[in-house]
Amino acid sequence: MLLSESQEIAMGQESDPSIQAQFGVYESEAMQAFINEKGQMMAKTSHRPELKYEFKILDSPVVNAFALPGGFVYFTRGIMAHFNNEAEFAGVLGHEIGHITARHSARQYSKQILAQVGLVAGMVLSEDFRQFGDLANQGVGLLFLKFGRDNESESDRLGVEYSTKIGYDAHEMAGFFNTLSRLSGGPEGRIPTFLSTHPDPADRNVKVDALADKWQEKVKSTQFKVNRNSYLRMIDGLVYGEDPRQGYLENDNFYHPELKFQFPVPANWLFENSPIQVQMAPKDGKALMLLTLAQEKTLDAAAQATLEQFQLQMVDSRKLNVNGLSALEMTADQVQQQDAQTQQQQQEPVRTLTYLIEYNGMIYKIMGLSLRPDFNTYRSTFLNTMTRFNTLNDPSKLNRQPERIKIETVTKSGTFQQALQAAKMPTNRHEELAILNGMELNGPITKGTLIKVIRD
Ligand SMILES: [Zn+2]
Repeated sequence: MLLSESQEIAMGQESDPSIQAQFGVYESEAMQAFINEKGQMMAKTSHRPELKYEFKILDSPVVNAFALPGGFVYFTRGIMAHFNNEAEFAGVLGHEIGHITARHSARQYSKQILAQVGLVAGMVLSEDFRQFGDLANQGVGLLFLKFGRDNESESDRLGVEYSTKIGYDAHEMAGFFNTLSRLSGGPEGRIPTFLSTHPDPADRNVKVDALADKWQEKVKSTQFKVNRNSYLRMIDGLVYGEDPRQGYLENDNFYHPELKFQFPVPANWLFENSPIQVQMAPKDGKALMLLTLAQEKTLDAAAQATLEQFQLQMVDSRKLNVNGLSALEMTADQVQQQDAQTQQQQQEPVRTLTYLIEYNGMIYKIMGLSLRPDFNTYRSTFLNTMTRFNTLNDPSKLNRQPERIKIETVTKSGTFQQALQAAKMPTNRHEELAILNGMELNGPITKGTLIKVIRD
């Protein structure tokens, strides 16, 4: 049931722009050049050297790497932060290229890509809201493509082969599984897919270690690169964790320092921010609120486009002012559709409340929706967010900077924890830093060693 090569390429090409829009490409020429150089080199030695490959680092703090059919490979800045040398990176790169060259379950991709509706993580969205949630075409879920165990094992094998062939020590790849398994027990949102289909990372570690021995014998070389210091120097300054410049939630308020706006988020609602939309929903999934940018130039045109896009029928609309900004309020119902087979009307239609707000030459669109019987329950919640959309001028909110990884030199031999203390890292982040550095807190470290620390 394999797709043809041209179908694979078409599938990758179709999804790539959405993935870039959803996550953003991380701005670092040096790092993008690095992944492209190593990726192209490895692709040439792979089993499908004729494919055209593209390698990108996405601006996401989640620790992951994934590949799409046809030659598209993505690493997050989150996983780049967690490698401690080029050889670990090369092993994972080989693993991802392996999914492409071994043509793993392209059917799974298509199924999962189709199932993506850009939803709030963890939310079970009712069928009724699907078309509204689908604004992004693709969702964060893409990061969590799942392959079967056999496919993962085969990709591990290819990862060892490919990284060995371009001169890296694949034993380091085995070591990186420790980092992944330590992370999976860690803070929220950092669950790597590598582990999802492998209940026993230790077993995987042992297998990859043995494969590394085998391939090192095969290629008849005794010199295999690890390149720790050069890797660490390259990632010096890398943004770490969420980047507040792209918007952040604080005390039930959302602030966007770059676009200079703010609005309150309903208390206890699930919340997700991506470069193309902000989604909010109560945990029971009975309502949904989305903030996006309208493509149209005027409020009326944006209202009309919204009605057409979602097949809505206007109930009422009015022009108004939202904190000094020109706006349009519109209530609209989903057009009832007959079910062709049963000749019956579908259940309760969806009612929407939309605020279109002009600000800084753009039109912000906040749409709240629920089934009609629930609408009055949520209307005031929607309005509370929509009518409190406002400009953001508070310097303390505007100047929020992300944390970054800094590479520093250990000045005194001792334990890793002592080195962290000397670098004035707060105690509550020592364990996190131990994982980030692939070290143990009580492990030894010698003067002159480079380590990662986290600075504002
Ligand atoms: Zn994999």
